[in-house]
Amino acid sequence: MDENRIRLKDKRRIVIKIGSSSLTHEETGEVNLIKLEKLVRELCDLRNRGIQVVLVSSGAIAVGARTLGLSERPRETALKQACASVGQARLMMIYQRLFAEYNCIASQILMTKNTMLNAINRQNAQNTFEELLGLGVIPIVNENDTISTYELSRLQQFGDNDTLSAVVTAMIGADLLILLSDIDGLYTDDPHLNPDAGFIDTVERIDEKIMSLGKGAVTHVGTGGMATKLSCARIATAAGADMIIARGSDMGIIHRLMEGEKSGTLFLADKEENFDLEKYLI
Ligand code: GLU
Repeated sequence: MDENRIRLKDKRRIVIKIGSSSLTHEETGEVNLIKLEKLVRELCDLRNRGIQVVLVSSGAIAVGARTLGLSERPRETALKQACASVGQARLMMIYQRLFAEYNCIASQILMTKNTMLNAINRQNAQNTFEELLGLGVIPIVNENDTISTYELSRLQQFGDNDTLSAVVTAMIGADLLILLSDIDGLYTDDPHLNPDAGFIDTVERIDEKIMSLGKGAVTHVGTGGMATKLSCARIATAAGADMIIARGSDMGIIHRLMEGEKSGTLFLADKEENFDLEKYLI
């Protein structure tokens, strides 16, 4: 067995990110309750193993749009934000119910880019995470979409939860980030276009060659493509965490990965001396 995979068993603080495409049914856009239920069971079991867990969940806009009866994902900023307001509350209601089934306490943390750029806000967020994790709570994080502005530049918002999850990983000093998406991981080329594209199971160092593989492989429901995921890997690994990109079609992948199964692409921690998160945000 691969040493790097075996070491995943020793992770004590992990962040798991689930994208909108992994928690809704592709055909209808409705919430996939079976998947969510399995996800929550996996997370509660990790916590029962003594691992501190943070969930970064997208889906506010997708669930809100569905709830309001919109036939497609909204484009206009104010409507997106209205959807996020409806959907975030509804999503949390579903999560709360499911977590309660397994006797787990979940909480909600909504962040903006400002939370990270403002030192006092960042410290507050950090303190809250520490306190919650110490209490055995599973924080559920999303961007505060109702006040983050999609139209303004990347300076104003994270825009996608891949980036948000990498930032959270760095901020709380987590030792593993798992991005669950609708792609298997990193290929040498776009597998939809090139049948000879090879799968990369481990990335030891993120160099320019790896970064150039970020083309194509865009998901349909969420916002983060492979290029974004590679930037996340840069942040997470430089902060000292391992990161995995894996397909979230079967949530059982979470415990299998933690047991050393060779699925997805593992990016090995490559801690940067004097890592400065702000440098990656601007
Ligand atoms: N924050 C957005 C939502 O919850 C999703 C962003 C993303 O797709 O990564 O709907």
